[in-house]
Amino acid sequence: MLKQRIEQVLADVKASCIKHGRDPESVRVLPVSKTFPSEVIAQASELGLLRFGENKAQELKEKAQALAHLPLQWVLIGYLQTNKAKEVAKYASEIQSLDRLDLAQTLDRRLQLEGRSIDALIQVKTSSEASKSGMPPEEVLDFIQQIQGLDTLRLKGFMTIAENSQDPVVVRDCFKRLRDLAEQARQATGLELATLSMGMSADYDLAIAEGSTELRIGSAIFGARDYT
Ligand SMILES: *Cc1c(COP(=O)(O)O)cnc(C)c1O
Repeated sequence: MLKQRIEQVLADVKASCIKHGRDPESVRVLPVSKTFPSEVIAQASELGLLRFGENKAQELKEKAQALAHLPLQWVLIGYLQTNKAKEVAKYASEIQSLDRLDLAQTLDRRLQLEGRSIDALIQVKTSSEASKSGMPPEEVLDFIQQIQGLDTLRLKGFMTIAENSQDPVVVRDCFKRLRDLAEQARQATGLELATLSMGMSADYDLAIAEGSTELRIGSAIFGARDYT
């Protein structure tokens, strides 16, 4: 089951890249394993998946500890409370939900204590929904300047969650907004900022069309999540 779903997703992503004139090698998939138990992740690792996205620091920590014998990388993709920065500093290889200065400063302090550094993406709010977290686009350039000196955070680019809409135009606008912002940031800073983490199970085709370099895919790989 899992094997077939992984193969299907990778084939669909490749087809989507070709359809939109993108090099399939330029788009990678981050499997999102939130809510799925360690046994399923161990199984996925046997099928070649070694990097997993989790949206809660506590869950990331528990899985990293349970699977410490495997060569896995853990990526935080959900809102991080400052008082949980320690878990990320200890166990994550990357954070894609960096969205405010006090979090960046706390993470930097914690990472220094651990003697580690991690990759980081700035999460940008590109939708008009009130509930979505992320930094307002107009604050991003200043924020990049403010975190330049934090050597433990290797800034690689940007992440966004598109608006939850049935209208592909609305969804695509969110992705386009992130791509335009990234271009603006590259020109203003001279930094590479090559990563655009955008697109999930339901909307990755549109994200690929708008230049995504990383798709965060949960349910299409692992199946429907059970929150009960
Ligand atoms: C859960 C989650 C995903 C994956 O969602 P699916 O629709 O299951 O692919 C992607 N990004 C973030 C930030 C998430 O929390």
